[in-house]
Amino acid sequence: MSYSKKHKVLLQAIIQEGALSEYEGKKLVLELFGHDHIAKVLNDINIKLQLLNMTIKCVNCEVTGNLYWILASTVQEKSANFPLEFSQAQLELLRNIYSEIITSNTGKVSSTWCLNLCSTLNHRLTKTEAEEFLQLLVNRKWLFYKNGKYYIGVRSIAELQQYFKDTYDDNFTTCILCKQSLYYGAKCDSCDTTTHVYCLKAYMRNSKLGCPNCHSAMPGITYSDDTNSLQN
Ligand SMILES: [Zn+2]
Ligand SMILES: [Zn+2]
Repeated sequence: MSYSKKHKVLLQAIIQEGALSEYEGKKLVLELFGHDHIAKVLNDINIKLQLLNMTIKCVNCEVTGNLYWILASTVQEKSANFPLEFSQAQLELLRNIYSEIITSNTGKVSSTWCLNLCSTLNHRLTKTEAEEFLQLLVNRKWLFYKNGKYYIGVRSIAELQQYFKDTYDDNFTTCILCKQSLYYGAKCDSCDTTTHVYCLKAYMRNSKLGCPNCHSAMPGITYSDDTNSLQN
């Protein structure tokens, strides 16, 4: 069976959420189709979307590792395709936040830093307006927020990869395990290799070798149950 009204409902849910968590997506597929053949359903939608140069991308949150489904263009532009409703001031703030996160060594930026930025923007934006905008960015998954820090969100990862690559060439990193773009991850103390935390955890589950490059133990990563057998 190919594209049907049920597929349309699912696609609409993805668009409405900005990014639909796989957990919610699976529930909806089960409700609509009475089965959970996720790959088949998403593939049927993607065949339909091909004509529009669009696709459903599956992207992991770099902090939680949770998977999200996102409608994204297959034609990635050098200039970022931001939502039209964002104002000049909002875009200026967002670009500055991206820049700070990507050029930092930590892959995150504090909310205080973001709000203090307001007074230095060329376009006027009050702190209250900035706070509301930041909340919107988190809700729509352009940014991820945890403990006073902002990280690159799944939608930015899905839609702005080419823009980030072209803009921050020197700072653009990829994960040694999945070869995908990386903004926040786990870093090896010995050789500076960086991986996504979720990639490293999956890798650790199957191997006790430590850093995938130099095999040193990776800091800040919880190893599986038999930690004692790990050689440092
Ligand atoms: Zn990875
Ligand atoms: Zn290493």
